[in-house]
Amino acid sequence: MSERTLKPGVVTGADYQVLVDAAKAGGYALPAVNVVGTNSLNAVMEAAAKAKSDIIIQLSNSGAAFYAGAGMADGFKAKVMGAVAAARHAHLLAEYYGVCVVMHTDHANRELIPWVEAMLDEGEKYYEQTGKPLYSSHMLDLSADPIDFNLSECARLLERMAKIDMSIEIELGVTGGEEDGIGSEFEEHADNSRLYTQPQDVLQAYDLLNPIGHFSVAASFGNVHGVYKPGNVKLRPEILKNSQDLVQRTHGTGHNPLHLVFHGGSGSEKAKITEAVGYGVFKMNIDTDTQFAFSKPVGEFVEANPKAFKYQVDPEDGTPYKKFYDPRKYLRLGEQGIVSRLLEACDDLGSKGQSIARS
Ligand SMILES: [Zn+2]
Repeated sequence: MSERTLKPGVVTGADYQVLVDAAKAGGYALPAVNVVGTNSLNAVMEAAAKAKSDIIIQLSNSGAAFYAGAGMADGFKAKVMGAVAAARHAHLLAEYYGVCVVMHTDHANRELIPWVEAMLDEGEKYYEQTGKPLYSSHMLDLSADPIDFNLSECARLLERMAKIDMSIEIELGVTGGEEDGIGSEFEEHADNSRLYTQPQDVLQAYDLLNPIGHFSVAASFGNVHGVYKPGNVKLRPEILKNSQDLVQRTHGTGHNPLHLVFHGGSGSEKAKITEAVGYGVFKMNIDTDTQFAFSKPVGEFVEANPKAFKYQVDPEDGTPYKKFYDPRKYLRLGEQGIVSRLLEACDDLGSKGQSIARS
């Protein structure tokens, strides 16, 4: 158990680092859940409160655009202002859920560097007004580019982030999957060293970024994004241990010096997850599973009450269906679906009951 406690609400800067260290020291990881609107965002906070777990809330660029409204004319502006709106929503409400909430943005590839920069413009303004950044961290995923470009861009943006108490998440190696449009073409026995992050690359990242500011690394150890048939995911968590050991040996640091992130964990065996957490993974992304958890009960409700989604009043017996088609009815079912899936995730990751928030 960690000695340090934090005030409930969005945590950034030194507090965020305390939270990351508490997870690593306590042998658990925090679920990082993608949200697309207030329904999913509130459901994630509700789940965290119920599980007494701290939590990471994240938005992809398309999730942020959806948060601003799919009908907003300027699509780029929507990606930026949707992210701002989600963060401000969390800053206003998170403390009332009694847990620590990390605000984070998900994968940004080379084309999305301007998105990250525009969010930093907004983050800097917010920092000037409140002394806090909007986001605890942003992710930059340049793993598809040469490593020198990947790391120099991460360093350039981390310089800016560090000034407003932010952390960066980077990605090294290739994580296959539907989100990235890569993955299924990899043959099991082919030369797939690209599927696994090389410890030498992780050391290079540490050397460059550690003097600048706080960073975390999404490393590939056989993980894929999205859901794959069981057996297609060959997780090799020892890859993570090799990277930790190399940095520790080279720099004479303490145990597990790197803050590691697990992408594409859906459908992974629990034992492999536990092993990865032991090697310094403090964050595990969850997206597809909570999408399904939201939609399944909504689908069942529509199927069970088909007439309520065709008529306001039953044409045969005059029964009013308002109680059924009121969107709150089925949206709440979706929220509850997310909550129960996340209670399971907190159990799997060991974060249940571990919140370090104290009012
Ligand atoms: Zn990734």
